[in-house]
Amino acid sequence: MTGIYIHVPFCAKKCNYCDFFSVPYQKQLVENYVQAIIRNIKYYALENKIKINTIYFGGGTPSLLSIEQITRILNVCAKYFILSENPEITLEYNPSGNRKNYLHDLRVSGVNRLSIGTQSFSDKQLKLLTRTHSVQDNFRTVLTAYEQGFINISCDLILATPYQDKNLLAESLSNLISLPITHCSAYLLQIEEQTALAKDEILLANLPDDDISADLYLQTIRVLESAGFQQYEISSFAKSGFESQHNLKYWHCEPYLGIGAGAHSCYQGRRFFVPKDIQKFCNSPKQEIKIISETACDTEEKIMLGLRTTNGVPENMLNYQAKLKIPLLVQADYLTRKLNGNIALTPKGFAVSNAVISELLK
Ligand code: SF4
Repeated sequence: MTGIYIHVPFCAKKCNYCDFFSVPYQKQLVENYVQAIIRNIKYYALENKIKINTIYFGGGTPSLLSIEQITRILNVCAKYFILSENPEITLEYNPSGNRKNYLHDLRVSGVNRLSIGTQSFSDKQLKLLTRTHSVQDNFRTVLTAYEQGFINISCDLILATPYQDKNLLAESLSNLISLPITHCSAYLLQIEEQTALAKDEILLANLPDDDISADLYLQTIRVLESAGFQQYEISSFAKSGFESQHNLKYWHCEPYLGIGAGAHSCYQGRRFFVPKDIQKFCNSPKQEIKIISETACDTEEKIMLGLRTTNGVPENMLNYQAKLKIPLLVQADYLTRKLNGNIALTPKGFAVSNAVISELLK
């Protein structure tokens, strides 16, 4: 089955570390964009019968869409696609003040999973990351969402931020696990060129070094696992049965169709993306696509993606050269051999995953 990804490239304010494609929110532009999303859904659905089991609103800030706009998009999905019985419908949500009615109506619209951009449970850290919400907003958003019937809630956490040490992280983690959530995405901060953070010398000078970053990551794994969140991917932890069905498609090389400016797809055996041009997307009858590859995933990509997961990949997918390196990597505790014949990264291996994976694929 296919997953549908809907990109919503609008934000109230740009965060200093973010290089995702997004522009400032403008009411009319957003409405034109929603109409273009709907046009494209109909186009793809009329072209082919598409069975789907996940819909993911990502951004940007999808929670800037009105309930009416989200409902319109979901109604068109339900009418034109062939929906599985219990589709997972996720929306990325930015914490904010009291939006009880919005969260209530969002649940009624059919959205059944929230991915909440909490990022940290320290007000100082949120300020440094130029987030527009407070720790109190994080708590209020999660608790209100839960009260309004969301039982599948994920929270984001950013690791290795400026000035973060193990005590600050411990405080964030203990707040996070006290909440009624089922999933956590914990990312190591990446400094991306062209972001405000990349130009802030004081913040850059106070970033944890690689060793401390690895320790913070391992601390996160330990705390989350002891609270019942099993790691199933480098950055993803879930209570049993609450793994993100949509995100698993990316790592399992399963088909997903991305709609919207900047969205990526792996669909009908090809990989492609839509240029990051909102006006063009709004004004075109059908989204323009640029082909990345005429094949879905080759063996190298399957290995790279598979090794992001704790399930790993079958050892026999690797070539002779790579297989020779496995015993040393196992001995150094970067890799583990599983009973089913798979090899997978260990927590220590995940902390330096790029280096281990490129060593295997060299
Ligand atoms: S981090 Fe999220 S809210 Fe902040 S600018 Fe990027 S997409 Fe927008």
